Parts: sequence; structure tokens; C-alpha cells
Amino acid sequence: MLFATQTFLVAGLSRSGIAAAEYLVSRGARVYVYDDVEDDTVRSAAQRLSEIGCMIVSKEDLAEKSERCDVLVLSPGIPVDHPLPVAFRQADKRIIGEAELGALALRCPVIAVTGTNGKTTTVTMLENILRASGKNAVACGNVGKPITSCIGELGEDGIAVAEISSFQLETLYSLRPHVAVMLNVTEDHLNRHYTMENYIFLKSRLLKNSTESEYAVLNYDDPVIRGFAEKTKAKVVWFSLRERVEGAYLADGYFCYFGEKLFSESEFPLDGNHNRANALAAICAAKLAGTGNAAITAALKSFQGVKHRIQKIGELCGVTFIDDSKATNVDSAIKAIESIKGESVLLLGGKDKGYSYEPLFEAVKNSGVVHAVLYGENAFRILNAAVKSGFTSVTLCRPFDLAVRVAFLTAKRGQNVLLSPASASFDSFRSYEERGDRFAEVLHILTEERKGAAGAEESRGPADVE
Ligand code: ADP
Repeated sequence: MLFATQTFLVAGLSRSGIAAAEYLVSRGARVYVYDDVEDDTVRSAAQRLSEIGCMIVSKEDLAEKSERCDVLVLSPGIPVDHPLPVAFRQADKRIIGEAELGALALRCPVIAVTGTNGKTTTVTMLENILRASGKNAVACGNVGKPITSCIGELGEDGIAVAEISSFQLETLYSLRPHVAVMLNVTEDHLNRHYTMENYIFLKSRLLKNSTESEYAVLNYDDPVIRGFAEKTKAKVVWFSLRERVEGAYLADGYFCYFGEKLFSESEFPLDGNHNRANALAAICAAKLAGTGNAAITAALKSFQGVKHRIQKIGELCGVTFIDDSKATNVDSAIKAIESIKGESVLLLGGKDKGYSYEPLFEAVKNSGVVHAVLYGENAFRILNAAVKSGFTSVTLCRPFDLAVRVAFLTAKRGQNVLLSPASASFDSFRSYEERGDRFAEVLHILTEERKGAAGAEESRGPADVE
């Protein structure tokens, strides 16, 4: 890209948009910045960018300024059928994302991870493993640190462990990862991608530049991902929870890689088959990056999980609170309820993404979930699915804080209150992180209230499980 002679419009001033604008300015480009939202966070980001030379575009000026720009750098949060990218496409101009700028700028090998669920967990495992082996590995991309802000830190000798979402794949063309990890594809983001075919096609784009010099780490247990093996030129290494595949698998109670036992399943600290699958994927990618067994074993045996993903955050009156706020779709919530030991009161709800909740209640009926508290914008749709599935131990309670209180009062001693909402957070929160943090705050408030009320523990209701 000819930065010095091209004019860029960066649309969407969240973390990645800010990083893209900073990177472009550092390369000598003329940069306009724009955001539909006009709140304090955006205003202060725009202000900081104007101080380094970016030109702020208002809604009124957008059409005119767009005409002066050669390239649109689109935030992953803005759909490609938004009027702004549509206008650029009609004018036959380029539309790229921050990840594309990163892909063009990186000088080190890349391990890229995509999938509907488990990306952040796998990327974090990989970063830990590679760092334990002494490599300068940096987790970047959708995981939080934009790729363009890691270029210097990575240099030529680092390894970028890039989490790549389907939103990023819409505007990413040049990435050619040394290892592309494909975890799973289940129903999600259909409000954005419309059909499963389109969503699967977008996921497959992570492999489109791979040649026989690169590797694809594929989930043998996922039929869609398994099918990618026929379409890619990359060398395929598999992972599976069920079969002894050419790659990583579980056998005789051990995590294994091509016939070699690495460590026993009982030494792996996370619950849930989905986390074992993530670890198997990480083992494959780490091996293909040349990592020795000692680093893999040490990092995975000490892995503590990632915040807001099936995380025990505290206990009150014998009830354990588990934060899985990152479960923003049905499949991830199913994985959580399947992996949590004992009985739980489940908190479900938030912003609807348009998919069916019936598979969730089929799983609920065969799990330790004894009651569900439904809150948020989609509470009635979830209630409908619960009734259709014959799961009637349900309370409807719209505000989040109250729902957490009701879940606590419903739970008996020895049970869990599990926040695994199967929904996005945007109806009431800015992010799943904010929702998880509020869950912890309500626990804190309840704890303080209990401290204040003498004998409260006895008064909290029928607390003991017979
Ligand atoms: P992502 O970055 O893809 O959103 P995370 O690692 O943040 O994935 O996990 C999000 C949620 O998905 C977790 O809270 C957990 O309940 C669930 N999850 C994690 N790994 C998997 C997996 N391999 N398959 C299905 N669900 C998973």
C-alpha cells in the first residue's frame, strides 16, 4: 500500500480503529477518522487522534470527505452492508480492516486461530506455551491487542498468535498464517452474516492463502471443519477428543501428539471437554511452531483459564457463583452446563441474535441445571423455547441485578449460580466484560448485605439440599 500517496478513512473508533489510524499516521498517510456514535469515549478518541494529525469527519461531511478517500478502513463492528462501505464498493474503492493492515505489516510468523467458540482460550494457552519455551509470542487481534500495535514488539523473531473473528475475516485478504487453527463452527452471528453458508464461507477464508508450506490444524470432531481439509492446500494436522487422529488426541487418560504421551488428563486444571479440545488444538499449533514438550506440559498444567469464561468468582452461603459471561451463543452455554459439576441455577438472557434456544433446553434437561432465571430483552423468546422443550422450572425476571438476586435466593447450599447467558450483552451492557463485572458486583453487594444482617444465612430460605 502506498501510504504516503493514499488517503484513508478509518470508520469506527474503537480499539482497532484507533490502532489503525495511529499506524497509518506513523506511515505518513493522510487519515480521516469517523464514527457514527457520538459519545464521550468516541469524542476523546477522536480528539487524541486529531492531535497526531488525523482529520475528524462529522456525519454532515461524511459523503464529501469519503469521496476524497482512496481506502476505507472498516471497524469489525460495522457490517459490510452499512451505507458507508456500500458507497466505497460502488465507487470501486478498497475496503480493508485493521487486521489486513496488520497482516501486511507483520514480519514474523503468524499462528491464527478462528472458530465460533474457544478462540481466546486457545490463543491464551498458545501464548503461555510459546512464552514458556522462551519465544517472544504476543496474543493479538480480536483478543484485545490490535495487530498493528504489536508490529514493533514482535519484530522478525516473535510469533504473532492472532485471534481472528468472522467479522475481521470480512475485510482480511492477505494473511497467510504459518499455522491456521480452525476450532469449530456453530450457529452464531447470523444477525450479521445472514446464513450459515455465508458464515462458514467467511471462516474458511482463513485458509484461502495457505499453500503446501503452511499447516492447517483442524477439529476432526466438527463436521464443517473436517470438510475444510478437502479445500485447503495446507498440510493438515488434526485434533480430536474421540479418535486417535494424525495429530493431537486423548488416549489412555493422556494428552497425546502423534503417539507420544505428553501429560495426564487429571493434571489439566480446566473442566469441560471443550477446554480439552482447545488444549489439543494448542498442542498441535505449538508443536508446529517447534515447541518442546516441557514448555507445552508446564504451560497447560498451570493454565488458569481466562476471565469471564467459566470462572468461579466467589461463594456466598454455600452457593458458588460462576461467571461465564463470554458464553454469548447457544453452543458455548451448552458447553458450560455440560462441563460444570453439581447442580446449578442458570442465568440466561440478553440481546437476541436470532437463533433457536431449544437445543439449549434439550441440554439443560440432561444436565445439573435445576432452575433457569431469564432476564433481558430476549427473556420471552427463551421462555417460549423452555416451555416447548418441557423445562418448566423457570423464573422470568427482566432486570439483570434482580435476576442475579433471584438466582441466589433460588439456589440451595452446595449449588451454583451460573451466568452463561447464551446471548449478547448489548441490551443492557457495553460488553460481556461489563456484564461479568456487574455479576461480581451484585455478588459483592449481596455479601455485604448478608454481613449486615445477623443470622441472615438462616433466613435466606430453604438453603440445604436434602
Ligand atoms: P471466543 O474467543 O471464541 O469467544 P472464548 O475462549 O472466549 O471463545 O470462550 C467463550 C465461551 O465459549 C466460554 O465461556 C465457554 O463457555 C465456551 N467455549 C470455550 N471453548 C469452547 C469450545 N472449544 N467449544 C465450544 N464452546 C467453547
